[in-house]
Amino acid sequence: MVNINENFQKLQAGYLFPEIGRRRRAFEAANPDARVISMGIGDVTQPLAGAVVEAMKAAAEQMGKAETFRGYDDGGVGYDFLREAIAKNDFGSRGVEIKPDEIFVSDGAKCDTGNIQEIFGLSNVVAVTDPVYPVYVDTNVMAGRTGGAAENGRYDGIVYLACTEENGFVAEPPNDKVDIIYLCFPNNPTGAVAKKEQLAGWVAYAKENKAVILFDAAYEAFISDPAIPHSIYEIPGARDVAIEFRSYSKTAGFTGVRCAFTVVPDGLTAYTKSGDAVAVAPIWKRRQCTKFNGVSYITQSGAAAIYSDAGKRQTQEIIDIYMSNAKVIREALGKFGYTVYGGVNAPYIWLKTPDGVGSWEFFDLLLNKAHVVGTPGAGFGSAGEGYFRLTAFGTVDNVAEALDRISKI
Ligand SMILES: *Cc1c(COP(=O)(O)O)cnc(C)c1O
Repeated sequence: MVNINENFQKLQAGYLFPEIGRRRRAFEAANPDARVISMGIGDVTQPLAGAVVEAMKAAAEQMGKAETFRGYDDGGVGYDFLREAIAKNDFGSRGVEIKPDEIFVSDGAKCDTGNIQEIFGLSNVVAVTDPVYPVYVDTNVMAGRTGGAAENGRYDGIVYLACTEENGFVAEPPNDKVDIIYLCFPNNPTGAVAKKEQLAGWVAYAKENKAVILFDAAYEAFISDPAIPHSIYEIPGARDVAIEFRSYSKTAGFTGVRCAFTVVPDGLTAYTKSGDAVAVAPIWKRRQCTKFNGVSYITQSGAAAIYSDAGKRQTQEIIDIYMSNAKVIREALGKFGYTVYGGVNAPYIWLKTPDGVGSWEFFDLLLNKAHVVGTPGAGFGSAGEGYFRLTAFGTVDNVAEALDRISKI
């Protein structure tokens, strides 16, 4: 008799996006003439930069000739040309030394942030922020690091750090001792960013407690404030305690192309039960080489083109479109009397629902009155109740139309 992994049964059945889809379809069925605009999607709408498309075409041509054909990316952790471009442009340019060998190219930050927990023991105590990107939590549930979920959706065994108006949506290190800490800045869903001092507090905590910080920087390209760090490695000492995740999905429209990378610095260690320090990077490399066979040459060629002069200019233009959307949304909602956060260094606007209306109640109100779909904050954790996420990833026209309708509520 085959047994199922019962940890999967602890998961709260992918509640958020199916429920949003269900309510949207019910509304559309009852109102066939309404044109519903989505400001809820975490997917991009702008096409790939021309430099990326050209590089991918050229790579495809190379793949079609015997002399330049390539098979497996040897080692499966990324071609040197891409890892060198990353080291130079993403880190070297900010005064951070990351060696190409410390960079592991993959097909997504979702899988990397989901898979990374595998290389750490099951007895570690995991801390996440609330609200949170659900991947960090669910993958730990699947692995068996938690008990069941309580009524508020929180799993037994996970330490939740509430991100609230009071702390500016940036949690401080806990008083309890935790071992694995997931941080995401700029944050999805709140759009909050962490200042250098705040990240330094986390690095100090991790050093003191021999913990590891799993830092998701998928949105670093949206930072506009020059004082905000793009990488956790801008904090002295972070190399010893942090793994950083990056993705081309939102920064260069790669959600459908699939390319990302994870940085595991040489000096980073975890410990055996008897207290011996073990280097983490070779273990992650071993995990990747066993379970993953690399990203296609065509895709990595496209990613490398982002670092060309034309590629940098064109991807910045795309980011500028989204951040212009974010500004328009933030300012318009402010004018209509809403309290809004985020949208300055991140493509997410975190709206406080008016008059203490619940997240889902506000969802229904927006759908029924403005035919606009957003994401209820409560779907990202109990501390998200009373908030609502809007994304700036829509088209300029849809954003204008949606705001016009919201103004009339
Ligand atoms: C979109 C997103 C990612 C990127 O995931 P990919 O698998 O690279 O597309 C990573 N982290 C967060 C928080 C995100 O919102």
